[in-house]
Amino acid sequence: MIYNSQMECMDRSALRQLQTQRLRETLRRVGAVPFYADRLPGNGAAVSVDETDSLPFTTKQDLRDQYPFGLFAVPQRELARVHATSGTRGKPTLVGYTRNDLATWAELCARLLAGAGARPGDTLHVALNYGLFTGGLGIHGGAERLGCMVVPASAGSTHRQLLLMNDLHPAGLKATPSYALHLAEVAEQEGFDPRSFGLRYGIFGAEPWSETVRARLEDRFGFRAYDSYGLSEMLGPGVAWECGHRNGLHLAEDHFLPEIIDPATRRRLPPGEEGELVLTSLTKEAYPLLRFRTGDRTALLPDPCPCGRTHIRIDRIRGRVDEMVIIRGVNLFPTEVERVLLSFPELQPRYQVRLWRDGALDNAEVLVEARRPAEADQAALAHRLKTAIKQELGVSMGVRFASVPDGEGRNKALRVIDERNGVS
Ligand code: ADP
Ligand code: ZN
Repeated sequence: MIYNSQMECMDRSALRQLQTQRLRETLRRVGAVPFYADRLPGNGAAVSVDETDSLPFTTKQDLRDQYPFGLFAVPQRELARVHATSGTRGKPTLVGYTRNDLATWAELCARLLAGAGARPGDTLHVALNYGLFTGGLGIHGGAERLGCMVVPASAGSTHRQLLLMNDLHPAGLKATPSYALHLAEVAEQEGFDPRSFGLRYGIFGAEPWSETVRARLEDRFGFRAYDSYGLSEMLGPGVAWECGHRNGLHLAEDHFLPEIIDPATRRRLPPGEEGELVLTSLTKEAYPLLRFRTGDRTALLPDPCPCGRTHIRIDRIRGRVDEMVIIRGVNLFPTEVERVLLSFPELQPRYQVRLWRDGALDNAEVLVEARRPAEADQAALAHRLKTAIKQELGVSMGVRFASVPDGEGRNKALRVIDERNGVS
């Protein structure tokens, strides 16, 4: 089922026209944001979607610098809701929605659910966190829009989640892939048979995951697993998702303008080439963003899709162009660990973060070195560092004293050893 075939299957030349018209409206709207007003070309009214080179990029750093309301295009009283991304550098990124933005978001999430085969009347089990995280409430709105019955289970209380699925027989599950693996493992320990839940589809996103995980999830739950991509800066979930052909993720082009750039030269790359995904919002009122550098590595797949949707597809996200890692849902740049570390004069300014998985859950530890190992009270030092990391970065990380390689012989020290390999 295609939720909005008029938009999703629109003839491409009409779609390009619509995008250009919406881009120009967006350019008018961001005129109210000093950050953009200062950076916009004088001829904004003439810009078309094929020539965005004159428009400024927006980076994650810009979002942090403008916290909390600097990038909002409407006054606070016109907002209907805010969400926040997991705080990096101790500061979250605040994103906001007008009532129209919430309606758009619900529609896009309804489209994404329908893409995986959801139908009105389905019961949908949402095991994504509800709260400031965009996942839970975003999907919730879309499921209600589509006409599903939602079980807003949120994340956690795994035993109760399994009980609910066992008793309510939902048609669909929405979760992060790592939490779904965890659900499957706990099910096994507690004697549930996930195949007997009767799920038809599972939709997973918010973090990278591999085809191996897809196969494992499908095997454990007996459903078809779909990939879904979103980011709070654009709305949350509902930016791109797989249809039944699962040959890439259709990106909602009537609401977002995608480009792929070479992250080093910032030049636009032709379809098919892999680079950094850059997105411009075309309809957002509260928090419009121009050429936002997502940091996500992918390619545009322009071939027509047999499903009939005309919106371009992006390849499954292949990783990040920066060193950002996602640990239990918290976005983290290794340099932030460094910042905390540098406030400890007893420690060498070298470190290495190691990530691994225990069952389905992320674990992290940081390897550090004392300047004067003989004198250091390592246990006390480790405890203080652990507390500081938790407090400032919001992640629990073990601390281990070891000899840390200093990056000799490499251009860049190896700061992160990620043994998780996506969710695999
Ligand atoms: P949320 O996790 O709520 O979607 P964030 O804004 O905190 O929002 O994180 C967005 C980031 O999560 C994306 O930029 C991307 O790196 C990652 N992400 C989201 N969905 C996927 C996906 N399907 N595959 C890989 N990475 C994803
Ligand atoms: Zn398709």
